[in-house]
Amino acid sequence: MKTIILLALFTNLFASEGKVRNGGDISTRNILFAANNLSQYIDICLSSNSCIEDDKKDNLRQIKEVIIPSNIIFVAKPTNPDFFVIDGLEKIAITSNIPGSKIYINLKKINSMSIADATSLLIHEFGHHLGLKNHDSLDQLGVKVALNAVKSYTIYNLLGTKRFTPQLYYSKNLNPSLYILNNNNFINISNKISKLNLCHQNTVMSTYTIVNIFQSTLGSHDGIHLTLPLGIWLRIKCTNRIGETLRYFLQNNIDLVFNMDTETPVYID
Ligand SMILES: [Zn+2]
Repeated sequence: MKTIILLALFTNLFASEGKVRNGGDISTRNILFAANNLSQYIDICLSSNSCIEDDKKDNLRQIKEVIIPSNIIFVAKPTNPDFFVIDGLEKIAITSNIPGSKIYINLKKINSMSIADATSLLIHEFGHHLGLKNHDSLDQLGVKVALNAVKSYTIYNLLGTKRFTPQLYYSKNLNPSLYILNNNNFINISNKISKLNLCHQNTVMSTYTIVNIFQSTLGSHDGIHLTLPLGIWLRIKCTNRIGETLRYFLQNNIDLVFNMDTETPVYID
């Protein structure tokens, strides 16, 4: 079967967000992170009155069905040097118009891609999988989802080292979540917070908001590992089984310590 190769006409619209002060390039991480959160970003857009025209909503719902993060392939040096070249131009990404196709990302062209840039790019590429071929309207779709997505999260730059440049990602909407992002990796710390059982008996944590974040001096708790100690203050809402708010309180100093000796953020308990 002949596969039509489609391409991204893509510009960095959100270039100011998501950069770290030092360390390696974080674009690949941001693309994978955006891919893993893309369903949520689509939901945020669909639940907003101002995100997108009604006649485009079905496209977004269909894109949600074809997102496969593991089908994103990063290509540093293609065997065929013209792999990404179409009509004489080197593209950021190529894919086909079949659901489940691989999306090849040209590592040479994705310097400093933020989570918003990545969101926009991925909406475009997964949109091709539905058979949508108009690059301009896919760009518009992607940008609108990304513009709404950026309102739903905050990224805090933390003090790190050359090798470990941590950021805290906090998603405010729908299901709040917290991630520690490092160069090419991320770890979801929301589970850790739910396991602390901060709500009383017969209630569950329904939402939380970040009130403050304190980063203590980088150091070593055990004389072996270089560690990142974080104190997080949350305002927590506890509800009963039928969703009534029974308690709304400030929990200060939730202490989390991460091992900075590895590229992947790891807790130290
Ligand atoms: Zn395209």
